[in-house]
Amino acid sequence: MNILVTGGAGFIGSALVRFLVNETPNRVLNIDALTYAGNPDSITCADNPRYSFAQVDIRDSVNLSREIQAFRPDVIMHLAAESHVDRSIDGPADFIQTNIVGTYNLLEATRAYWRNLPLATRSAFRFLHVSTDEVFGDLGAEGRFSETSPYAPSSPYSASKASSDHLVRAWQRTYGLPAIICNCSNNYGPFQFPEKLIPLAILNAIAGRKIPVYGDGSQVRDWLYVEDHVQALYLAATQGMVGETYAIGGESERTNLEVVQEICAALESLVPDKPPGVSDYAELIGFVDDRPGHDRRYAIDTSKILEELGWAPRQSFASGIHQTVAWYLQNEHWWRPIQQGHYRGQRLGLRIKA
Ligand code: NAD
Repeated sequence: MNILVTGGAGFIGSALVRFLVNETPNRVLNIDALTYAGNPDSITCADNPRYSFAQVDIRDSVNLSREIQAFRPDVIMHLAAESHVDRSIDGPADFIQTNIVGTYNLLEATRAYWRNLPLATRSAFRFLHVSTDEVFGDLGAEGRFSETSPYAPSSPYSASKASSDHLVRAWQRTYGLPAIICNCSNNYGPFQFPEKLIPLAILNAIAGRKIPVYGDGSQVRDWLYVEDHVQALYLAATQGMVGETYAIGGESERTNLEVVQEICAALESLVPDKPPGVSDYAELIGFVDDRPGHDRRYAIDTSKILEELGWAPRQSFASGIHQTVAWYLQNEHWWRPIQQGHYRGQRLGLRIKA
């Protein structure tokens, strides 16, 4: 098959590209604008002849259409997005343009390509939209999100992703585009940009800097190991039912405080020689002002994808965190240029508040 991935230089997209190229026989075209979050160094399989790359912005409908028509995909997996909640609070405009207008452009370019396909190819075609559990808003202390949870986004990021979900659903219902949506929980693992909680905590701790935790650290997230996630995405794209939504979670609910404590425990075993002046990594944990509109809890009921597609997360949180910490320790050549702002010539304010 020809599989077109958007956002394949990002955290989840690059894990998906590596999986598709290394573990399946498919040809892969990665379309990515290479924003601050896209990093070609994450595509460790880039020299494989079944992989190709086009630096295209999904806001650019002309070049987007040209790439789709030229590649002739059997499957499109759409991950390109502005993805960082804090950045969406500081400046929502890019989130509206990429996540909403960009998804609209992609849907229209896909529809124009798909409706002219020969019948057999046309009915086998699939469009997979990758979205987030944040579209469902804040969960109380009880219960979990499922495919039927009502939409109630809280942040500019989650509102833009909710909008994109609605567009995809409308293009499926109105035009018959064979689309499937996945809403997943917080991902973690190797190659995550160091502005997100887990890599930020690891890199701060090994440098002896404070580990910032929002509010009192009691916000609960359901952590999903990225390599488990990309297998679920491939299953959904190739075996999922058109028009359906699949909720994907890691069965690993943890408070943010528990997450950073687990990171500190992993570091204690992996790097017993601590930075000067640090006797215990956990002493670096510091609380900072809570994020405005911060949702308290997200959790996912994964029964549907288990029952219909036979998928369940395989990685336990303790071993996933251990592997992730070990990966950052062994891959300084990947994160150091980002931290120093060398990558793409930018200095990246990493929002280290404490
Ligand atoms: P990321 O920020 O690491 O990567 C996003 C990628 O999209 C980057 O490579 C970037 O260059 C590219 N991109 C951004 N704007 C673009 C544009 N206008 N045109 C083309 N490419 C563009 O994000 P991620 O964490 O890998 O998330 C991937 C997808 O999964 C997103 O749609 C996100 O909403 C969703 N998601 C992520 C998580 C998570 O925990 N990371 C959880 C739920 C859902």
